[in-house]
Amino acid sequence: MDFSYTDERFADIQMLRYRVSGFEHLSLQQKTLVYYLSQAALSGRDILWHQNCRYNLPIRRMLEAVYTKYEGSRVDDEFRQFEIYLKRVWFSNGIHHHYGCEKFLPGFSQAFLRHALTSIGYPIDDELMEVIFNPDILSKRVNQAEGEDLLQTSAMNYYASDITQREAEDFYDAMKRPNTPHPVQYGMNSRLERNAEGRLVERIWRSGGLYGSSIDHIIDWLRKAQTVTETEQQYQVIETLIDFYQTGNLRTFDDYTIQWVHSTEGDVDFTNGFTEVYGDPLGLKASWEGYVNFRDSQATARTEKLSSNAQWFEDHSPVAPQFKKKECRGVSAKVVIAAMLGGDLYPSSAIGINLPNSNWVRQEHGSKSVTIGNLTEAYSKAAHGNGFREEFVIDAETLALMEKYEDSLDDLHTDLHECLGHGSGQLLPGTDPDALKAYGSTIEEARADLFALYYIADPKLVELGLTPDVEAYRSQYYGYMMNGLMTQLVRIEPGNQIEEAHMRNRSLIAHWLLEHSEGAMQLVKIPVEAKETSERQGPTKTYLKITDYLKLRVLVGRLLAEVQRIKSEGDYEAARELVERYAVRIDADLHREVLERYRALNLAPYKGFINPQYLVVRNDKSEITDIQIIYGETYAEQMLRYSREYSYER
Ligand code: ZN
Repeated sequence: MDFSYTDERFADIQMLRYRVSGFEHLSLQQKTLVYYLSQAALSGRDILWHQNCRYNLPIRRMLEAVYTKYEGSRVDDEFRQFEIYLKRVWFSNGIHHHYGCEKFLPGFSQAFLRHALTSIGYPIDDELMEVIFNPDILSKRVNQAEGEDLLQTSAMNYYASDITQREAEDFYDAMKRPNTPHPVQYGMNSRLERNAEGRLVERIWRSGGLYGSSIDHIIDWLRKAQTVTETEQQYQVIETLIDFYQTGNLRTFDDYTIQWVHSTEGDVDFTNGFTEVYGDPLGLKASWEGYVNFRDSQATARTEKLSSNAQWFEDHSPVAPQFKKKECRGVSAKVVIAAMLGGDLYPSSAIGINLPNSNWVRQEHGSKSVTIGNLTEAYSKAAHGNGFREEFVIDAETLALMEKYEDSLDDLHTDLHECLGHGSGQLLPGTDPDALKAYGSTIEEARADLFALYYIADPKLVELGLTPDVEAYRSQYYGYMMNGLMTQLVRIEPGNQIEEAHMRNRSLIAHWLLEHSEGAMQLVKIPVEAKETSERQGPTKTYLKITDYLKLRVLVGRLLAEVQRIKSEGDYEAARELVERYAVRIDADLHREVLERYRALNLAPYKGFINPQYLVVRNDKSEITDIQIIYGETYAEQMLRYSREYSYER
């Protein structure tokens, strides 16, 4: 059975399964721990739905009612379009595209939905109809366009809808104490609202507060997990997390992340809570996510080589001395097997994660970095032989280079990005960690990628046995720049700009290099036939041509030094200039061409994962005797089950 492939394909999405390799070798206690933590990872699902947009949960309930109860034709075009829309809503945890953030519109008529609702006796809510069908309402989940009120133009639900960007920024600026050595992440666990007197107040996400019922269920599963932890540290980490969920105290959250960073002994690990801030245009409020994993010992040997040499990499980087870490603390890195994905990591998941996000915690306690081995494996299996490289890579020689090295170097790039890149460098004393505001996420991702690109070409990696030879990095450079200049555009609708931080980062790096490379890297137009016969006529296709890889590496070093300076000094103007100039805009002609070539390949640009199911086996005394994995669930079955079993918010 090929686990990675499923035939579930809809809109721009292909669903994959990931295999939880090695689960069967865990002890019963470890399996039980994975199970309880997995339940906790699924219990916060509706928190994210509500965070993404205030209409998401009522819309989901309405659509699921139609999907399960409608008795009319299920094969005609209206219903098929309805099913696609519902799957897209499930996939995006709401009505906005999970990646591009734009609201997607249904392919079925409003008349069909009204008819279907009437037929099952479900009340029709005109406001929800407007939200679903009117393209001008809540059209963007996270708007990053410069010069607009980012809160008023974003549909996300982290701020009450009448609060302006200026009001929110003033509110949090007043809260910050400059030069505090250990600032908490202000505002990260609350929704900003207006009280009866018109004053702004935070409504905290905690037991008894906003999302209290979901959080109480998470706490129940965490308490169960505490009965089977592998180490005392794990027990304590969970204890502090529960304390945070009960009080909402941000100092306690920092304590929890510090304990979590130092908890490296056991095999099983997890994250559970308010984590990434990409969903908030102001970059303050954190979306809920949860996932569970266990160590892949063999592959971890690779990342340990990197982390045990972290200081060497820091010392030899092209960054100016005052921006470097004097002492790299505990960048612990491992390769893990994902056992459950939840919240903002499901079904579209990161393949590498580096936490915590608090700058001072990272600086003083280090961070934990993981590469998720079974997810990258599922991705690369699904990508083989699909014709993508043949279409976009310039010539047979480069293609051979990519085939030979790229899969293994992709993993290495992720390792470098996560366990060295994000962990490198330091802020100058007194620099506000949020100084780069809306540009902060892009600059941070660029920093991590540049660090990875710089070192993937370093002979040190050959010496460590991580790259096979000094040429291998060329495959990574070619693939990266091709993606940043051309192929990542397949994820963007015609006419839109680049919004997402990781995509902006790739575009920034590739376009900056293109402009500064003095011809070492170019976009060239080649007549279609000329690829074989060198005739100069007919239509052309655009390709990336790289003639001097070493020169590119020097430029990568230069940009890394500059991006680190921007971060370390909190140079907002320079960050704005870099991002607006290189990261955001798209050449419309090139975009059209890339979309056409991509469409001809008939591939899905986005992929996501169906979770496994864990089955608890008990004896007649009701004690757990085994935990088994089941992989058979379809995506729709999984989604409907999650809505039945893990829906607590009203
Ligand atoms: Zn990153």
